[in-house]
Amino acid sequence: MDLLKGWNGVYFLIAAVIAGGVLERFIPWRRMPFDPWRWARAGLLSVYGVILVAAIPFVSDFALAFLAEKKDVGLFNMIGAPAALSVPATIVVVDAIAFSEHVLLHRVSLLWRLHRAHHSDVMVDASTALRFHPFETLFRAAFEAPFVLALGLPPEGLLAAFVVLSVVNVYTHFNVPLPRGLERALAPVLVTPRMHRLHHTTDGASQRLNYGTMFSFWDRLARTRAGPDALADDAAFGLEAPEAPPRESFGQLLLDPFRTPRPGEQ
Ligand SMILES: [Zn+2]
Repeated sequence: MDLLKGWNGVYFLIAAVIAGGVLERFIPWRRMPFDPWRWARAGLLSVYGVILVAAIPFVSDFALAFLAEKKDVGLFNMIGAPAALSVPATIVVVDAIAFSEHVLLHRVSLLWRLHRAHHSDVMVDASTALRFHPFETLFRAAFEAPFVLALGLPPEGLLAAFVVLSVVNVYTHFNVPLPRGLERALAPVLVTPRMHRLHHTTDGASQRLNYGTMFSFWDRLARTRAGPDALADDAAFGLEAPEAPPRESFGQLLLDPFRTPRPGEQ
């Protein structure tokens, strides 16, 4: 767990993103041209999200976790749970919360506007894991805030969850083929790249499957799980309507929640 603490965790995350990006160049699942601007746009969206959350009081989960710890608020603080229990439990809890947020982002039309920038990517690779609209990042932080306080999620647990789930997020999006047998073996417990790619296809019904970030059993419980074999190798990625134009400039991505869809377009 020491690897995930403080700056070590952030360095580990950066190394994992770079390693994922490099692997994609050498053993791509689907060949695609390297576009540094694609990475820059996605990275900048993520950075704006972090700045937005930090700038608004009472939505920064880390600040709330420190406050809960100091004031002895929340379940884990009240029972004095040891880090060996509270840190792994926080990772599981945050993954369950992320699953619930993801379902809402798809099923509530106003929230779908925030998530659309992520799904409008017509290619899926490690950079897609950074392509979240800042308002989606803000929604996720605000949604998590009451759980952080009620459960007294520890700051070190939140940091570990952030690093672990971010790394998993990169590897479920990355454009590298894993052996099919490995995916099938992992699938009952973990979300695999093929399972998550299915969620990114232009098929609306498939987009409503595999909402999980790390553990696949939330989808099993919600009956929204499809295994790695459900993805067709020639599947197209992006929004549902074929006529929806790809929105690729940084300005278009930033303004996407305010765009009124044309008839038949998502
Ligand atoms: Zn989604």
